[in-house]
Amino acid sequence: MHEWALAEAVIVAARQEAKKQNIKQITKVQVKIGELQQIDLDVFKFALENIQKIYDDLPLDENIIDLEVESNILKCKVCGKEWELQDLTHLKEDESEAIHFIPETAHAFMRCPGCGTPDFEIVKGRGVWIQSIEGVL
Ligand SMILES: [Zn+2]
Repeated sequence: MHEWALAEAVIVAARQEAKKQNIKQITKVQVKIGELQQIDLDVFKFALENIQKIYDDLPLDENIIDLEVESNILKCKVCGKEWELQDLTHLKEDESEAIHFIPETAHAFMRCPGCGTPDFEIVKGRGVWIQSIEGVL
């Protein structure tokens, strides 16, 4: 259930950021989720709503957390070609699932569609982070 751990990390980070900016009441938290992170959004939202209730000194209303999924981009370190996971149709379904679940395994299955090297990087589409936070000072 890594959704719960991630939800708690987001809430804690949002609260820390709010304190740093002297925000008394948070009005909006924009959270970005990398597409390759493979999070169950419904579970994640449920976790966010429940965890934020624990922290009543700086309440986060359940409607102010805005979740947005960021699409993935992969880039070859050799030839510079960029592509998306879904461009590679030769991947078997279970391999695609493995990549979604653990981005690190991408290098075990994928090759650059331009030059065939496994030497590429994940430019976008992994991790969970707070894009922005707004509130009342
Ligand atoms: Zn390449």
